[in-house]
This record gives sequence, structure tokens and C-alpha cells, in this order.
Amino acid sequence: DPRINGIKTKIRVVPNFPKPGIMFQDITTLLLDREAFKDTIDLFVERYKGKNISVVAGIEARGFIFGPPIALAIGAKFVPLRKPRKLPGEVISEEYILEYGRDCLEMHVGAVEPGERALVVDDLIATGGTLCAAMNLLERVGAEVVECACVIELPDLKVCNFTLSFHSYPLVICT
Ligand code: IMP
Repeated sequence: DPRINGIKTKIRVVPNFPKPGIMFQDITTLLLDREAFKDTIDLFVERYKGKNISVVAGIEARGFIFGPPIALAIGAKFVPLRKPRKLPGEVISEEYILEYGRDCLEMHVGAVEPGERALVVDDLIATGGTLCAAMNLLERVGAEVVECACVIELPDLKVCNFTLSFHSYPLVICT
């Protein structure tokens, strides 16, 4: 799709952020370009419209940028998956391992009903650990994760086999 190249060129790579040695993929420059931002959302909407998806679950923080416009366009609700102690209601939590240490995602109890079809949205997949935790949360409340949608895949990192073998493949529209 010719739109993908346009999207790619708008993603800025910032060396040594937030730590030395990291090449940070910055999507804020993509958001500044109305056409590329719209193309990004449109590509996902074209893929997921009519698939009977009732939940778009966005991962904090950049899944909160791409998730809601996709949810509105496909007629789904939006559910934020947040870092610990941010949600005010009763939550379920899922811990996951990072390269250095651990992190956790939380979801409000009652936000998703058993049997709902869900799409998980984030900006970037590296190891897949974050997406895996998101899928576990949704599956623990009885939802079916149809797919995970990310804008960027880090090509030099191995995606965890657990994600790929037990769940549907992430959609990566830009590498
Ligand atoms: P993973 O769990 O290893 O797949 O890492 C993915 C998570 O880390 C996502 O929530 C991303 O937003 C974040 N992340 C890692 N590297 C980058 C980056 O270069 N730019 C933006 N987000 C990143």
C-alpha cells in the first residue's frame, strides 16, 4: 500500500532517548502530519471494519492516541489498559517482564464482557511482552482477542514466540 511509505517517513528516530543506546521511535511527528495520521487510522479501520469487534483496548500511553479514532470508526467502545494505580475503579492486573525489571497493566472490572471480540492497539511492538499482558487481561475476563494492531515493529528484536504461537499475529503496517 503506497500510504505505508508516507507513514514511515513521518516517524522520527531519536538516538539515545530515553537512555544511551536506544533508538527511540517517535510517533509525535506522524501526528503532526494530518494526511499521514489519517492514513494510519484509515489502514486499521479498513482492516477491522465489519469484523464484529466490540472493544478496542488501547495500551497506555500511545495506544490512547491511535485506539479511540479506530474504535469510533468501527463502531466499538474504547477501553484503556493503564499503568498501575491510575484507574479509580476495581481493576484486574497483569504483570509482565521487561528487559530490566517488571511492569503491570490494569483494566477496569466490568469494562469488557465475556464473549466480546477485542482488538488491542499500541504504537510499537518490540519483544511483544506488553501486547501479551494486554491479551492476557482480555482473555481472563472471557473476551476473544481478534488481533493486535501496532504502527511500528522494531525489526532487530525477536518477538516473543508466546505471542505469536498462541494468539493472532500483530498487524504491523510500518516497519
Ligand atoms: P515490548 O513490550 O517489548 O513489545 O515493548 C513495547 C512497548 O514499549 C510499547 O508500549 C511501546 O510504546 C514501548 N516502546 C518501546 N520502545 C519504544 C520506542 O522506540 N518508541 C516508542 N515506544 C516504545
